[in-house]
Amino acid sequence: MLDYTFSEEQELLRKTVREFCAREITPRIKDMMSQRKIPQEIKDGMAKMGLLGMAIPEKYGGPGYDPVTIGIVAEEIGRADPTVSIPVFFLVDNAWSYLVAKYGSEQLKSELLPDIVKGKKYLGIASTEPAFGSDVASMKTVAIRKGNKLVVNGEKSYISLVRDIKEQGGGFVTVAKTDPTKPGTSGTSLVYLPYSETNFDMTYLEEMGREGSSWGAFKIKDQEIPEHYIIGKENQGFKIVHEGFEFARAIIAVISAGAALESIQRGVNYLKERVAFGKPLSKFQGLQFQVADNVAKMETALDLGYKALWVYDQEQRFGTYTRFQVSKEVAKAKLLSTTWAFDAVNDALQWQGAFGYSKDCPEEWALRGIRSFQLAEGSREIMKQIVARETIGKEFI
Ligand SMILES: Cc1cc2nc3c(=O)[nH]c(=O)nc-3n(C[C@H](O)[C@H](O)[C@H](O)COP(=O)(O)OP(=O)(O)OC[C@H]3O[C@@H](n4cnc5c(N)ncnc54)[C@H](O)[C@@H]3O)c2cc1C
Repeated sequence: MLDYTFSEEQELLRKTVREFCAREITPRIKDMMSQRKIPQEIKDGMAKMGLLGMAIPEKYGGPGYDPVTIGIVAEEIGRADPTVSIPVFFLVDNAWSYLVAKYGSEQLKSELLPDIVKGKKYLGIASTEPAFGSDVASMKTVAIRKGNKLVVNGEKSYISLVRDIKEQGGGFVTVAKTDPTKPGTSGTSLVYLPYSETNFDMTYLEEMGREGSSWGAFKIKDQEIPEHYIIGKENQGFKIVHEGFEFARAIIAVISAGAALESIQRGVNYLKERVAFGKPLSKFQGLQFQVADNVAKMETALDLGYKALWVYDQEQRFGTYTRFQVSKEVAKAKLLSTTWAFDAVNDALQWQGAFGYSKDCPEEWALRGIRSFQLAEGSREIMKQIVARETIGKEFI
């Protein structure tokens, strides 16, 4: 039976996070945009509030929250930051530290996870390379065994949080070929790759939006990592990397829905106040129907996001859903939420006339930020491919 009813504790957490966002995030958004980085006080505040590494178990210093509860926090942060820079920081760090907590070696977990929870180190995901994003089988980065170490060489591109990790410390969950003789996605391992001043050649990239975020590419040259940095079984990384992507994708669905619902609300406030042709814009049915369509879509998207997080949790803890069912639920939620959110924000921008197109309008920031989610952590076409595969059947497509 589907059941992701929010408990009293979850509602209390939502309220606390909402208050934190109103106090610490909302007043700093414009500063963040002009400085083009998330203010350190916000990141430290999130750590103090227990919002980093939320899925990390108590044994490693974390609160061990479930995915739906993490989704509630993500929704609130998504509502608070229209640029989606802080939501991205939140989602990447939380989703990928969950995977380390699930599959990492004891030694890696003890070394890394308590620092993630305290916000002393941040964690990113580095999968994409210059020659591939969707097609993981084309990976060129290698991690070759040398005794009880691995030597990593390669290049990763379009990676979020690069500056945050360089400045604060931490590293990336990375996919690399540990057995290059094996074809396709076999012979691939998931490894923890700490940022290294000497072995990383990093370039920053400028994003279309997400002004507080950092984004870039790095070449990795002869970086040695201990074998206990392998996450899960050696040469079996492709099997587990999806669990990280699915968690991240489901969180993106609730962030996009939360952000879009806030945009709609700001747009509605404008429609109620702005007078044209002798009456408030909200009196025009053409606009009312746009509001209705967007609210219907975004509230549905929010539900789909929570359902995806709940199904993910059920599969992870009890195995009551299959991996394929999870992939489909998550892909449906990410596809629809990110597509509808972009359209909803665009409409909310339109309702605000010329002001909507100005740099002062949060919908202008949101439109550029939300657009990233049709690519990041798996593109919308790949989401369609998953839904199609699970519907038509692998052998027929
Ligand atoms: C803002 C942002 C942040 C990102 N952050 C990270 C990060 O932190 N870590 C990381 O590893 N990556 C990150 N990425 C990269 C992201 O994961 C890739 O952009 C994405 O996987 C698509 O890969 P690609 O860009 O190489 O496009 P390609 O795979 O080259 O595809 C190009 C286009 O073709 C479509 N396409 C590809 N294959 C098919 C197919 N079989 N059928 C139909 N259409 C297809 C794609 O959907 C896309 O629209 C980020 C991207 C963005 C935009």
